Amino acid sequence: MTLGLLLDIDGVMVTSWQALPGAVDALATLDERGVPRMFLTNTTSRSRTEIACALGKCGFDVAPEEILTAAKLTAEYVSANYPGKRVWVLNQGPIAEDMTGVELTDDPASAQVVVLGGAGSVFTHDALSTVLELMIAKVPVVAMHRSMTWSTAQGLKIDTGVYLEGLEKAVGRKIKAVGKPSPVGFRAAVDLMGLEPNQVVMVGDDMHNDVLGAQASALIGVLVRTGKFRADALRELQRDEFGPVPDHIIDSVADLPALYDRLNG
Ligand SMILES: [Mg+2]
Repeated sequence: MTLGLLLDIDGVMVTSWQALPGAVDALATLDERGVPRMFLTNTTSRSRTEIACALGKCGFDVAPEEILTAAKLTAEYVSANYPGKRVWVLNQGPIAEDMTGVELTDDPASAQVVVLGGAGSVFTHDALSTVLELMIAKVPVVAMHRSMTWSTAQGLKIDTGVYLEGLEKAVGRKIKAVGKPSPVGFRAAVDLMGLEPNQVVMVGDDMHNDVLGAQASALIGVLVRTGKFRADALRELQRDEFGPVPDHIIDSVADLPALYDRLNG
């Protein structure tokens, strides 16, 4: 059997676009063995090309086509479900490159669909109030993901999920989120690798989005103790015997080649 690998990027390979210790060597080792792999990221601050380039500067050899971003998946979702509609995107960072096939507008008043990307300074009181008004006016809102936080060299930052919960409560309507942990990206990656879900190992630092999301889609989940991993949060989740359990936990991606050999053996 040949297992495939699906790798989260932020907090697993890099933090603030610096390689984590041992990550470059681990990836090169797996590459030499010809292990099928893809990357699945909720990163919304950079396009696939920019991510591949940033990884290249860290010493990773990754092609843009190997990377599935929440923006790319969201563009495909919006094209399929709201074809031809004008889309207003609220996102921290230029993301148009990954939103090909979608008609973008800068004017929220003319929006027929709202897409919420990654949080940042563009998530102002005014901008979020505009989203609220559009939601009340029944304009569909789609989010690239509902991550609560992301990890940076300066610590954890608040992400889109925190705002989504507030908007949903204020309006009384759920917002569809396309990125992890929704099955959309896991299924797309598994299909692109030509494997079955139970033949793919998802590696991530986010217990909920990466590991439990993958396991809910029948992939094998591996949690790393780097990035946004917090031992106390894991203990809290596993407080009772019915708490969720990752299939495997490793200290960092440096330990992945050994785990892969064990699983693939
Ligand atoms: Mg991560």
